[in-house]
Amino acid sequence: MFNRLNGKEHRISLTLPADDNGLTSRKCPDQKCNGLFKVKFGTGLKGENIPCHCPYCGCTGDMSDFNTPEQQKYIESVAIRYVQGIVHDELVRWGRQIERSMSGGFLSAKVRVSGQPIPLHIYQEKQIETHVTCEKCTLEYAIYGVFAFCPDCGSHNSLQILNKNLELVQKILAFAATLPDQEMGQRLIENALENIVSAFDGFGRATCVAFCGKATEPEKAKGISFQNIIGAQTNVRTLFGHDIASAVEEGQWETVNRGFQKRHLIAHKMGVIDDDYVKKAKDPSAIIGRRVVILPDEIAELTQLLTMIGKKFYESVNK
Ligand SMILES: [Zn+2]
Ligand SMILES: [Zn+2]
Repeated sequence: MFNRLNGKEHRISLTLPADDNGLTSRKCPDQKCNGLFKVKFGTGLKGENIPCHCPYCGCTGDMSDFNTPEQQKYIESVAIRYVQGIVHDELVRWGRQIERSMSGGFLSAKVRVSGQPIPLHIYQEKQIETHVTCEKCTLEYAIYGVFAFCPDCGSHNSLQILNKNLELVQKILAFAATLPDQEMGQRLIENALENIVSAFDGFGRATCVAFCGKATEPEKAKGISFQNIIGAQTNVRTLFGHDIASAVEEGQWETVNRGFQKRHLIAHKMGVIDDDYVKKAKDPSAIIGRRVVILPDEIAELTQLLTMIGKKFYESVNK
């Protein structure tokens, strides 16, 4: 930190304070973002001078660029205290020299050096809501919200979050199968369908925002909704040049579309089949005015297909 103070080179290494989980705050240096997050030093990539990525805006920089103002004050207080120590030692040595040079003469001198070390700038770590472990580099970090770039390896976690949510749906299905109450089991299956669509919509939106730079019109790409899967297919094809249906076979894509249409009925029509559903869902068992049927196997298949679609879409934009 200090080059040539008192004719010598000095270097101080210090450890920034961490929270109870061992995570240390970081702040994005980009003025437009200024996002706050945390990382656990010692996890993730190993080596010297690994750049830090902002999990929110993706900008990169040196690790020290990401110090928070509080940490900066802490570092400065440690540095000033260190310099103060050196100056104090120098003054004491200088005083002793004077005392020695005057000893044995008519006059003698006593030099006293006093002073208090400046207090260190102590601060409290803030709590941040979501803890993530990067699947690619194992860095442990914490962010506001859910979706983020890994601060170490820079990979985006949208696919990781999608897979986690879809795994949770499988667990809900397994639980629904154990329930003796059929009505409650059916309700859980319907909820599972809603959860799948929300998870995929969240994944799709976050992926489009994260990789909007690869789209022909980035601002439009940021607004793509995935609740209507056919609309999403058209928009992604136009803006990213990728067909999300290409991950599955034609019949499977129809199953996906039917699943999304069923979810639309559950969310907006109390599950009662209407004209619009008959036109769009290609469901041979559909009768207008009846409740739509959703089977657990259908949900399990939809989960599997969306896992494949999500993976291929992510890979196509993350090249
Ligand atoms: Zn940022
Ligand atoms: Zn990572």
